Amino acid sequence: MIRAYRLLIVAVLFVACGGKPTARPNLLLITLDTTRADHLGAYGYARAKTPNLDRLAASGVLFERAVTAAPLTLPAHASLLTGRYPFRHGVRNNGSFTLAETTPTLATAFHAAGYRTAAFVSAFVLDRRYGLARGFDVYDDRLDLERGAADTVKAAGDWLVAAAGDPRPFFIWIHLYDPHDPYEPPPPFKAAFADSPYDGEIAFADQQIGELLGRLHATGRDGSLLVAVAGDHGESLGEHGEATHGLFVYEGAIRIPMTIGGAGLPRGQRVAALVRGVDLAPTLLDIAALPPLAGIDGRSLLALVRGTGAGPQDAYSETYFPQLYMNWAPLRSLQDARWKFIDAPSPELYDVRNDAGERANRAADDPARTATFRRAVVAAAGGAERPAATARVDRETAEKLAALGYIGAAVAPADQADEAARPDPKAMIDVFNQLRDANTALQHRRFAAAAHAARDVLARDHDNAFATMILARADLEEGRYREAAAGYLRYATLVPASADAHHWRAIALSRLGAVDQAIAEEDAAIGLDASDADAHELRGGLLASRGRTDAALADLRAAAALAPDRAAVHVGLARVLLDTGKLADAAAEIGRALALQPTNLDAIAAQASLLAAQGQPDAARRAFERVLAARPDADDVRLDYAAVLEQLGNRAAARAEFERLAAGRETPDAVRREARRRLR
Ligand SMILES: [Zn+2]
Repeated sequence: MIRAYRLLIVAVLFVACGGKPTARPNLLLITLDTTRADHLGAYGYARAKTPNLDRLAASGVLFERAVTAAPLTLPAHASLLTGRYPFRHGVRNNGSFTLAETTPTLATAFHAAGYRTAAFVSAFVLDRRYGLARGFDVYDDRLDLERGAADTVKAAGDWLVAAAGDPRPFFIWIHLYDPHDPYEPPPPFKAAFADSPYDGEIAFADQQIGELLGRLHATGRDGSLLVAVAGDHGESLGEHGEATHGLFVYEGAIRIPMTIGGAGLPRGQRVAALVRGVDLAPTLLDIAALPPLAGIDGRSLLALVRGTGAGPQDAYSETYFPQLYMNWAPLRSLQDARWKFIDAPSPELYDVRNDAGERANRAADDPARTATFRRAVVAAAGGAERPAATARVDRETAEKLAALGYIGAAVAPADQADEAARPDPKAMIDVFNQLRDANTALQHRRFAAAAHAARDVLARDHDNAFATMILARADLEEGRYREAAAGYLRYATLVPASADAHHWRAIALSRLGAVDQAIAEEDAAIGLDASDADAHELRGGLLASRGRTDAALADLRAAAALAPDRAAVHVGLARVLLDTGKLADAAAEIGRALALQPTNLDAIAAQASLLAAQGQPDAARRAFERVLAARPDADDVRLDYAAVLEQLGNRAAARAEFERLAAGRETPDAVRREARRRLR
């Protein structure tokens, strides 16, 4: 009976898609982050240990020369999923761009055709907030910064098993991030690839693909399966001085692996012609006999594969990363079967057929060809003006991106009068590498090294905003508050739109005891970005210390509304409410903090103060003791504890605590004064 019911559904679905009973294939799309084609066995790399990817390639069509649209994860994936170049889908960088809700994607197309759709991504840069989740029934981005292939594959495998009984075809996309730097493969790949951990990460990703295929096979749903594998971009691995990817559009960073197999495609075919990442989506829709996406740059490669038509004439790639992060010139490239042009302040032309390493720049020898290519780039992509306005990146997002190695969030720098004066990225690669080192050092809290590297950059590139920011942060972290305050002032001059500059300067000033100046900086930060919870939180605390309670409460309430999940904000608000005798409101805020973090010691200390104020000294004492056991140096807590002991009639114990505070070397002055007063 169930079986008959399922058959009925299948029949209805076939009718729904036009009455033509084509067997609709299931689609598995695997995207490999940062994976160079020439580091896979199927592409001839002898050291590779990629048996699963090699098998997939051998069972279908391998494209020997596939080019991505951008050497950046989000723009490249947006192109793979939409068939559009970045200048058409509008996503020009990670972090500050989101795919428009109106842009059709592979997922919206398969979903509209009755497929079940699911995506499992492995890095924050592909978080649902960036717009790729549309069309997916399930978009699994449950991760903080990134997750390893084993976790992603487990989640995807569980979905496949759970959905195995559903007769509808599926489209599942799995993104694996492991080969992205830093290269830290798990055992046994760590030892096996001790001298090339990048290859070890690829080997691990391959092993996990094997796991996934095994689970898929066990569901019995891999009979009519179409499997596409594509890289989002490559990795320069030191070529042209670039360690990773993003700054340049040389082949190491823009050549990608691309294979498609199953669903009646020829086995073991290799296609030498130039193809593009933007061709993947139209090809997959064509194979599945679904209507093409509207308004795309890519084209189906099916005719090329069958030998009945040609592939694309040329391939475009771009990176706006240099401009958006560094205010350096963007790079755009166009290549055809033989030549590759890079539109840079100092243009480049390579005979990539005979000079795969792009060593001999022929632009000066061949001005006519260079000019023709340049016109073609402008005709296709327009002038190299600033890409569309970018969204503001909140501080938490910026810090996540920085932790993933993306230097810092893109912020609109001060307008540069002469656009042509933007430095050429290839002339700045040494500076860029020092910046990367500085950022890495900062992420690993090696502040002296970060400051050193940042100073080196500033010696060579005096107005480098990111080096200025990194140096100021290192100064702040190492307690050089005066230098930090000066550094953030300079950063605010270089990047006038940055609320961060003012907020961090306020932190430095408040550590210097310059409370009114710090408040003025937070005024500036909030003027630039009223949704800056950190700025509201700090200004609220500063205002409270100045006795401006109403203004303080307004700021702290704003911070709590903007960052309701942050326990510390609720505790800060509760503290001011306690001081003003609003015990019921304080209790509510402490309750929120403890609901978020039941063991948060600041929240427990605030609760102890609340209990004392509510006339429950015994309960207050127990709570204070719990905090002091974990944090014996919390002198402000000890002061309140001593007062409670006194209230309980335990004079000797109270006196001992006050004496300890009065004599303590590190006791804050205000606490010491109060302790001495109590001893009189
Ligand atoms: Zn990537």
